[in-house]
Amino acid sequence: MNTEDFRPEKEVKVFYPPQRVLMGPGPSDTHARVLNAMARPTLGHLDPVFTEMMEEIKGLMRYAFQTKNRMTFPVSGPGSVGMEMCFVNMIEPGDKVIVCRNGVFGGRMIENVERHGGVAVVVDDKWGEPVDPQKVEDALKKNPDAKIIAFVHAETSTGAQSDAKTLCEIARKYNCLTIADTVTSLGGTPIRVDEWGIDAIYSGSQKCLSCPPGLSPVSFSDRVTELVKNRKSKVHSWFMDISLLLNYWGSSARTYHHTAPTNALYGLHESLLMLAEEGLEHSWARHRYNYEALKAGFATLGMNYVVKEEHRLPQLNSVFVPAGVDEKEVRRRLLDEYNLEIGAGLGDFAGKVWRFGLMGTSCRVENVIFCLNAVETILSDLGMKVERGAAAAAAHKSYAAKPMF
Ligand SMILES: *Cc1c(COP(=O)(O)O)cnc(C)c1O
Repeated sequence: MNTEDFRPEKEVKVFYPPQRVLMGPGPSDTHARVLNAMARPTLGHLDPVFTEMMEEIKGLMRYAFQTKNRMTFPVSGPGSVGMEMCFVNMIEPGDKVIVCRNGVFGGRMIENVERHGGVAVVVDDKWGEPVDPQKVEDALKKNPDAKIIAFVHAETSTGAQSDAKTLCEIARKYNCLTIADTVTSLGGTPIRVDEWGIDAIYSGSQKCLSCPPGLSPVSFSDRVTELVKNRKSKVHSWFMDISLLLNYWGSSARTYHHTAPTNALYGLHESLLMLAEEGLEHSWARHRYNYEALKAGFATLGMNYVVKEEHRLPQLNSVFVPAGVDEKEVRRRLLDEYNLEIGAGLGDFAGKVWRFGLMGTSCRVENVIFCLNAVETILSDLGMKVERGAAAAAAHKSYAAKPMF
């Protein structure tokens, strides 16, 4: 056959993505500094200059997670790989794991436990509510042989935040280790790994860290490294076995494990540096500051929150679609006419809920005002009775009433 027969049927040209504003559940907008960092020359992944930068990433990650854990590094893969890495290393066949499910991602944790041969004891809470610590304690009383408690700190499918500190206290009381999903919380709301005693934690690059997707920051306590060292069976994944990865990310005499995604790591280095320059507490305050204004605007549009005020994530705003509004049409128009992406509802919330992300670089005053004006205009066009300009005015009032700078 002729080589030409294998050319794509459609003519392919250079791909230029449109410039969107990303205000969905992730990815968030990547900062220009991060994009520029990623365009720098590729180095060999064992180049001493590169490995020095890797050490800096580990240090910056310890700051972001508030931990002194030696085993703190970015996994080459999206948040889902960070999740799987925790479960595949920590579970041996037959191990009992308490899994808290109050949204989509808790469901994925159950899937992980079962695929790695564990037994999941599921503690269910309603979508939109946080994990109930009392239910977790009751489950532990009934299952004293449970080894691990797994929970999602920031449930991106609903916008609810759970009390990680209390859940870790309970785990310790019953001699359990903890696995915490902080994909959406890292950088956006407080996480204190050492103070709370989280044993295994994973996050993602594309939410409040505002990097492109594809990297998952993880950190493991010494209790986890001990557990893995004392396993009876080999970890059922070569790529994700943390004891093998330590030879690359852990020691000073680095040996080849896999080729690290060098340029993606330049991006993570830059975004973690930006977080350190801003300061964690300032970043957390900025997420609240913009959330308060967005919330004030939504109130004028009759858009009610799914989650009770005290459990809300400022970086993920789930609101009910106003009655009679075609939610898909609104999202389509936001994207086509305003280059603005927001998220749809998942699972039980499909068709009923919108999810507005205020993550990292996307969490800015101008985005809040832009988004409120766009949503208000479209809702008005679709025949909803709204007072034009009221949403942005309410946001401005909130900014003035609760200044942060
Ligand atoms: C986004 C997300 C994940 C998965 O991360 P990917 O990078 O999409 O694999 C896991 N958990 C939570 C809570 C998330 O928001």
